[in-house]
Amino acid sequence: MAAVQPKKKISLALRQDGQPDSLVHITPEVCFGGEKLVLIGGPCAVENLQQIIETAQAVVQAGAVMLRGGAWKPRTSPYDFQGLKEEGLELLVQAREATGLPIVTEVLDPRDVDKVAQVADMLQIGSRSVQNFPLLREVGSTQKPVLLKRGMMTTVDEWLAAAEYILAAGNKNVVLCERGIRTFDTTLRNTLDVGAVAVLKHKTHLPVIVDPSHAAGDFRYVTALAKAAVAAGADGLLVETHCHPSDALSDAGQSLTPQQFSELTAGCRAVATAVGRTL
Ligand code: PEP
Ligand code: MN
Repeated sequence: MAAVQPKKKISLALRQDGQPDSLVHITPEVCFGGEKLVLIGGPCAVENLQQIIETAQAVVQAGAVMLRGGAWKPRTSPYDFQGLKEEGLELLVQAREATGLPIVTEVLDPRDVDKVAQVADMLQIGSRSVQNFPLLREVGSTQKPVLLKRGMMTTVDEWLAAAEYILAAGNKNVVLCERGIRTFDTTLRNTLDVGAVAVLKHKTHLPVIVDPSHAAGDFRYVTALAKAAVAAGADGLLVETHCHPSDALSDAGQSLTPQQFSELTAGCRAVATAVGRTL
């Protein structure tokens, strides 16, 4: 009988004594973990060419340095809009060409990782996939930067263990994204765990950003949560923005208009300055 191996502990995701913050480079200009915060804007889902181009142009004008947009959407109901899939990827490429913004988009299925990685500048692992271990291993086998969202029911330690899967598979380019957790209080869609941001900045060397949109679930509260995130030490923000939110096929109620996104940027910039960062 084989000898029982001593249990190996999570280590790659944890900050070792004196270890500096890790930097995750997307392009020569865009980097997570430095003094400058990374502002990402864009729609929940890519819907059509006009929507993604118009939204991308609006967010870049307001100061965003990356574009988000889902081509594969993880929807609770199988009858809801599931995303444009490959066509969505093509539209993202056109938006990148039109604006120069690098793109982050979700990959849901390990079988799609190669295809999405060939196009995207960063792979998003959504909340519902944070413990999809085959998917984590698959993105870990690439060198593409990964945006790892926190699961809605995932503890900080479980989340770091999920990051460890990617790191242990050989991909060091991991950015964590707090997006709210489920609590007893259902006033907002989720409860933004600002405390987790402060804890993670201590516990891990990986960059930590915040998605205030899925935390709030309501456009009226997104900016306040974004400011709180910056004050708590977040390295960036992921904010759902739509050129015409009322027409959005998913997450309409939490999507900001270009004008609201621009106001969020100004407010967060002031907070960033107050905490010794730039945006
Ligand atoms: C999204 O970013 O549109 C999304 C589905 O987010 P989450 O996985 O955090 O719910
Ligand atoms: Mn969404």
